[in-house]
Amino acid sequence: MLNDLIQRVRANPLALGLLGGGVVLGLGGLGWLAHDLSASSEAASRPSLLQLLEQVTQPAPSREPPPRRPSPLPPPWPAWVSPLARQCVDLDPRLRLRLEGELSALPERRRRLAIDPSNYGVRFERDAFGHAVDPTPQVVVLHETVYGLGSALRTFQTPHPRDEDQVSYHTLIGLDGQVIDVLDPSQRAFGAGNSSFNGRWVVTNPRVGGSINNFALHISLETPVDGEDNDRGHSGYSSKQYDALALVLTDWMRRFPIPADHITTHRHVDLGGERADPRSFNWAALQSRLGALGQLC
Ligand SMILES: [Zn+2]
Repeated sequence: MLNDLIQRVRANPLALGLLGGGVVLGLGGLGWLAHDLSASSEAASRPSLLQLLEQVTQPAPSREPPPRRPSPLPPPWPAWVSPLARQCVDLDPRLRLRLEGELSALPERRRRLAIDPSNYGVRFERDAFGHAVDPTPQVVVLHETVYGLGSALRTFQTPHPRDEDQVSYHTLIGLDGQVIDVLDPSQRAFGAGNSSFNGRWVVTNPRVGGSINNFALHISLETPVDGEDNDRGHSGYSSKQYDALALVLTDWMRRFPIPADHITTHRHVDLGGERADPRSFNWAALQSRLGALGQLC
């Protein structure tokens, strides 16, 4: 090849000048040359020098998402000891027959009333710290209205812009046994702020702390007239209310993973220690009905 080049220079001296210029240009364009080589088909599968340098100076990409802040745990609180006993025998056949009949008629019997959207929310699938939470209803909280059914419904239908005023339950049961659904179980009722159950709560808004609302269903019994005060007790709830309560609880227990010992009270879950409801609640009346319906076995 060198002989061939000398032959050409001899034939055309101008070629020498071009050759010399080409050498200078070649040195100056070394970067371009390296770039061009890296793009050639032979070198395409190999990382470029730049890519190699980047791999040295940059940390390897992590497949894990960035660490999140841990969710705060609720304060220590006693575990719930359910007054409902297990019952697999001695079921009352007549009571069972009556309640099963009422249970099949329950869907037509329930009334549905809309309430103001400021008083409830959606169930969250992640808490305020980005951690996945299970929004499935797993706990039922029993309440009482203290004042009449109409008063409770007016409260729920009133817009409440301030977080601390927002309140709702899923279902209300009148003294006469009427069942009023104000929220679907898929929605999150604001039934118990600052609350926990067996060491669990969900923080959906760090400004107001944690609560069980994200995994709870709330049901409230209309208080008898002699209970419209702050006294420790009253004359109690009607047998029609216990019937209706057992029916709604049975419906929920058959639809959601709610064992009998996850039926609790507002009094128990309230971390503020201010709630006392439902006062004068007769657990034996609920025991016999849930037992007859086969929900305690
Ligand atoms: Zn309550």
